[in-house]
Amino acid sequence: MSESTSSGSLDSVRVLVVEDEPTIATAIARRLAAEGARTDVAFNGLEAVDRALATRPDLVVLDVMLPGIDGLEVCRRIQGERPVPVLMLTARDDETDKLIGLGVGADDYMTKPFSMRELVARIKALLRRVERAKALAADTGVTPILVIGDVTIDRSQRRVRRGDVEVHLTPTEFDLLAFLATSPRQVLTREKLLAHVWDWVDGSGTRTVDSHIKAVRRKLGADLIRTVHGVGYAFEPADVDTDDGAPSSGV
Ligand code: CA
Repeated sequence: MSESTSSGSLDSVRVLVVEDEPTIATAIARRLAAEGARTDVAFNGLEAVDRALATRPDLVVLDVMLPGIDGLEVCRRIQGERPVPVLMLTARDDETDKLIGLGVGADDYMTKPFSMRELVARIKALLRRVERAKALAADTGVTPILVIGDVTIDRSQRRVRRGDVEVHLTPTEFDLLAFLATSPRQVLTREKLLAHVWDWVDGSGTRTVDSHIKAVRRKLGADLIRTVHGVGYAFEPADVDTDDGAPSSGV
């Protein structure tokens, strides 16, 4: 539990805002500062990478369309240096779908225009997720390794294998898969997935769930996650008995 971030303050949180439109950049920085955050602003991609190195932010708000190098490349370079949660700003919903499909590695996406209230809520949710992932990794009471059929999910190392092949998932894709796999064959609604994986209190981002499911299927195989139309998803490998993880001969 991280009371500090859920209680409504961003005190002592350092945020880097990357946005080339000065009015938007300033509005975001001001609002976050009013919430108690320490904010830095970068107006282009290269400046963003330098700033991230220099200030070591706790979170980055990153516009995708930037002069110089774009938000995708900025995200890669920043996260190549050290893991940091990224909230990406996009111009359209279909752009968000595309970026999730590319596995860029941002932790959440918001489509412009958005309200500052929602931005702040999403930032707080994202910080809670990061805290929770840390706590889970440190919690020795949780069985760290799930083996279901030919899928192995190591929750302390945050690694996934299918058969002998290691599959690289983004942090969000990992959290989504791990949560689904905790309750095999059980249908989880989009709203429940949003609440648990993204820590959103409302159900306004169900499209995000669909896009991430698509990305996980593309990387891990289409046969593992069943769509229950109009309801949600179930982790349901075809050849698995729920009572043990012994390999079966079925294909
Ligand atoms: Ca822009």
